[in-house]
Amino acid sequence: MTRTTTTLIFCLALFACGDAEIDERTQVDAILHNGKVITIDADLSIASAVAINGTDIVAVGGEELLESYKSSNTVDLGGKVLMPGFIDSHTHLRGRPQRFIDLTRTRSIEEIKAQVTSKAIELGPGEWITGYGWSEDVMAELRRPLRNDLDEAAPDNPVLLTRAGGHSAVANSMALRLAEVTLTTPQPENGVIERGEDGELNGVIRERQDIVSRLIPEPTNEDVRDSLIGVLQEQLSLGITSFTHATGSIESYPEWETIYGLHRGTLPRATIQVFWEGPDAMTAFGKKTGDGDEHLRVGPIKIFVDGGFTGPAAFTKEPYKGETDYRGTLSLTLEELTTTISEAHAAGWQFGIHAIGDAAIELTIDELAAALDELPREDHRHYLNHFTVMPSAESMDKMAAYGIAITQQPNFTYTLDGRYSAYLDGDRLKHNNPLRTPMNHGIHVAISSDILPIGPMVGIYAAVTRKGMSGTVFGEEESLTVMEALRGYTLYGAWLSFEEDRKGSIEPGKLADMIVLDQDILTIDPDHIMDINVEQTWLGGKLVYER
Ligand SMILES: [Zn+2]
Repeated sequence: MTRTTTTLIFCLALFACGDAEIDERTQVDAILHNGKVITIDADLSIASAVAINGTDIVAVGGEELLESYKSSNTVDLGGKVLMPGFIDSHTHLRGRPQRFIDLTRTRSIEEIKAQVTSKAIELGPGEWITGYGWSEDVMAELRRPLRNDLDEAAPDNPVLLTRAGGHSAVANSMALRLAEVTLTTPQPENGVIERGEDGELNGVIRERQDIVSRLIPEPTNEDVRDSLIGVLQEQLSLGITSFTHATGSIESYPEWETIYGLHRGTLPRATIQVFWEGPDAMTAFGKKTGDGDEHLRVGPIKIFVDGGFTGPAAFTKEPYKGETDYRGTLSLTLEELTTTISEAHAAGWQFGIHAIGDAAIELTIDELAAALDELPREDHRHYLNHFTVMPSAESMDKMAAYGIAITQQPNFTYTLDGRYSAYLDGDRLKHNNPLRTPMNHGIHVAISSDILPIGPMVGIYAAVTRKGMSGTVFGEEESLTVMEALRGYTLYGAWLSFEEDRKGSIEPGKLADMIVLDQDILTIDPDHIMDINVEQTWLGGKLVYER
């Protein structure tokens, strides 16, 4: 055989003959290039191209990546920002039954009344009407909806509407009557049945709306499944590729398994917090923190130590602004807290604990530290679900020493501006939901939404500007850079679920969970951060949302 023949046969085998050089580039499933890739790697470096194969990122770099990789799915990002998908490490995602009204976008009491009236017509008399998301801070009337308003809107239906944040609700007369709540009803433990200036019940119940809501028929899983799947898909449009649902239970976990079994790979990755139900029930459940897979896993144990400022019932060291002795209240007894922490810690669970007031936070830190003294555990990653009223410096040092982390909601500073100004003062108002101070103490601070509202751009805006809804700036020294806020909403969230080796940054070997933004979040005037939209969401290497 001549030398020419050999070359020809070799060429035919590769389909790469003639003048062209042999293409040695590695074939991959997708390449995204010509972008501004915010990697969130250890150097917080910027790249321009990413190669994806299967579910994973295989290479990150500059345009030279195109010399090493080829793909029939090559996307030119046109200079736009590509960043890791957001990880909302504290949220509450639920499906809604037919009786439910979404009030999160309602801006007046007149509008609430119209929504309630039309729901009453839709359901017919006697049926319960529920709703969530009103806030007096955005009402045109500058006040809360009250019993009389709901009586006018739906006299023949029991109505219970929960405030944004979930720590108070307003009921109409029929709902109060069915629940047997009257002027002579004693105040419930850990809550308040409010009276108006006229001495009558105004319908508002703080922290203990369960005394009414217990009468509302429970929807079945099937009643709300499609609605929940819709809510989960909505997260992808906000750029959220992973979340921690903070109010799951061992009873509801099988429903999550059903949903994730039906829609594998097309829903954001879920971590489900559950409540502690005693050693026997938890052993029978048979799973604990971390069990599951990259789509759905069991998260930490949830404990409510106090309430919140929407009640208000956050447990503070000093009385609320202008009060002589009201300091909020604990949601459980000290004995219950100690028992739950020691039992669940001994059983190997992680914690994600709700504590909002400084007194609740310091108590929780002391309890966690005591459990860790008694039974040390490497890499426990226990964390607080909130951190609104900054505790003492000693407490923060203790958190750092014991490795107790935080998932913080900077968006509270924006959304709850009115609440904080009403109930807090001095340094506790200025440093509400602090970011920089706990970080300076060496505490791991991730960022999440707690659905007030869900969109991550609100949290990033508030973390960077420290501005409330009114425009007031609270403690500028607590602000973060945009890059730090992005890291809090991505990589640091992944760490809380022990997944920082698999997600939270754009690096080889990690899941290709990424989003494309329509404006450059690193250079935009921070006042316009909330105008930024997510254009594309990639989940495990697949394009799952396009605007
Ligand atoms: Zn929450």
